[in-house]
Amino acid sequence: MSYEANVRRVTPYVPGEQPKEKNIIKLNTNENPYPPAPGWREIVNTIDEDAFRKYPDPLITDLTHAIAAYHKVDIDKVFVGIGSDDVLATAFLTLFNSEKPVIFPDITYSFYDVWADVFRIPYKTIPLDENFRIKAEDYNIPNGGIVIANPNAPTGILESVDFIEGIIKANPDSAVIVDEAYIDFGGETCLPLIDKYENLLVVRTFSKSRCMAGLRIGYAIGNVKMIKFISDVKFSINSYTLNTPTIALGLASLRDNEYFEECCQRVIATRERAEEQLIKLGFKSTNSYANFLFVSHKEKKAEYIFEELKKRKIYVRYFKKPRIDNYLRISIGTDDEMEKLVEALKEIV
Ligand code: PMP
Repeated sequence: MSYEANVRRVTPYVPGEQPKEKNIIKLNTNENPYPPAPGWREIVNTIDEDAFRKYPDPLITDLTHAIAAYHKVDIDKVFVGIGSDDVLATAFLTLFNSEKPVIFPDITYSFYDVWADVFRIPYKTIPLDENFRIKAEDYNIPNGGIVIANPNAPTGILESVDFIEGIIKANPDSAVIVDEAYIDFGGETCLPLIDKYENLLVVRTFSKSRCMAGLRIGYAIGNVKMIKFISDVKFSINSYTLNTPTIALGLASLRDNEYFEECCQRVIATRERAEEQLIKLGFKSTNSYANFLFVSHKEKKAEYIFEELKKRKIYVRYFKKPRIDNYLRISIGTDDEMEKLVEALKEIV
């Protein structure tokens, strides 16, 4: 006999590498290559010992207010957490409590099945079509909830608000989570639908478009009742999620909208230029609306290109998984980094 028979065992999510080496070009975890809005420096200088000595505000009041004001919604429609991973995990635990399976695409953010496993939520993946598009009619089946990343990851493919609305409308008895981690890079948000559909939750992050992956700020917007359900679960696990410096730094980002928009535009412009150059080198690309490209080469295998890039200290993401094992996901870096990537790829392919 051993305690081990009683252990909850899971296969964990594996995040992209964070190499310690210097002078690498890191295009493997969809971080933003630009610094956060400059206001952060002043905030860091004003952090006092109370920020460490005392517990932070469990309600995250100021940041919740600022996010609500930014999106022009009531504060009790906003839930803030430690990155959108924490928000999504808490939402899974709260909203997906059925015997029927939660459904999501076969190719999507690879954390969804991990959360389902750890929380013992039954799930079923629904194959995307041959162009990696969602087939809406496949979602008209009995289910215990739906989660859709829009734009999807790792494909970057964006579906329209009307299209997503069709799925929400067809499933009034299921919570539908729309993960908009990458929406600021050219997509149209489903947020206006939250007042129309009580079953919708939209999840966002400061990690990508606000250049703050290291701080861990994410949030969800939904109707008051749904947000209260999620908040009750949060307060049943950990009252103090965001720390005081993080809250202050998140506020600084929201104050500088001009910087935020400029940063997104720069990433979009670099994405389009890099995509054109890769197509000239014989790659096909999925028309990504995210801060990454998802590409496949007509001759050279993705795994080979991945290894060759690594030898040249350029890190991209390769998923050894069915249907996408000949693709590379390349995060958008600075123009200079993307030039170096293109130069290296010219040698490799
Ligand atoms: N959703 C998607 C689709 C993602 O790709 C990521 C980034 N790994 C996240 C959510 C989580 O991001 P974060 O926890 O940094 O907000």
